[in-house]
Amino acid sequence: MSSSVHDAVDHELPPPVLREVSDGIHAYIQPDGSWWINNTGLLVGSRGAVSIDSCATQRRTRAYLAAIASVTDQPVRTLVNTHHHGDHTHGNWLFGGATVVAHERTRTEVIAAGKPNFPGIWTPVDWGEIQLEPPFLTYADAVTLWVDELRCEVRHVGMPAHTTNDSIVWIPQRSLLFAGDLLFNGGTPFLLMGSIAGAIRACEEVLKPLGARTIVPGHGEVAGPGLIDEVLGYLRFVADTARGGHQAGLTPLQTARETDLGRYAGWLDPERIVGNLHRAYAELDGRELGAPIDIVAAITDMVAFNGGRPLSCYA
Ligand SMILES: [Zn+2]
Repeated sequence: MSSSVHDAVDHELPPPVLREVSDGIHAYIQPDGSWWINNTGLLVGSRGAVSIDSCATQRRTRAYLAAIASVTDQPVRTLVNTHHHGDHTHGNWLFGGATVVAHERTRTEVIAAGKPNFPGIWTPVDWGEIQLEPPFLTYADAVTLWVDELRCEVRHVGMPAHTTNDSIVWIPQRSLLFAGDLLFNGGTPFLLMGSIAGAIRACEEVLKPLGARTIVPGHGEVAGPGLIDEVLGYLRFVADTARGGHQAGLTPLQTARETDLGRYAGWLDPERIVGNLHRAYAELDGRELGAPIDIVAAITDMVAFNGGRPLSCYA
């Protein structure tokens, strides 16, 4: 059940697409948005380009750079990281000395995470060469970036959500939001390293009030504002499921096994329910939002939920 969507195909994913979502602003969409296959953003100015995030592997980042070169001969001078996860940061070093900008905690977490080493957790990935390039221009709350006369607001969401260090890029004149991994479209949201309660608040108090007409999620297709409610529905489902399992004295894995994912069963990487329940349990136990918890135990449970098989990764 858990990975039928993937196993049904021979892993030949459609190629990534660089799509202009507003004048001079592109979303680089990498199908199918499952584990380690992220989206990025490209803003083209007259004297340089801005990229929002890099990619997980050397091959994918090189393909992205080639796509950039197909629409501009300007170099990427500024690279914004929406959060520390490797699918958004591994390729930073391939941007030829661009200024890498992020929340200060993104820098800390990129350094702490180091290079990828996940024996037995995901199916093998050809990462290529990775040199850590942590953000080196950091902010505590927000920074405003200008692409010619276009104002781009880079803001930390102010609370743990997908991780402890999530930023969005909001372009008010275009009503366009790059949401990072606060939002997934067609994939299961993943809160293990952030917070369930925080992610709900971030959606309600930060994302919704923006009134974005166009949203580029961290994974999956470009969407309209309805995507926020889609994700909120899942987050509340996780919170409710956790409350029931916690009260019944079940472990997160036991709770996940007893849970009918219903409409969420068809979303990619459904085993994330287990990691999400681990995080929700920590919050029910009174842990601070975003507090460190046993990530290895949670991921080991995700593999167990997946029938003991490594999680499908096609990065
Ligand atoms: Zn992420």
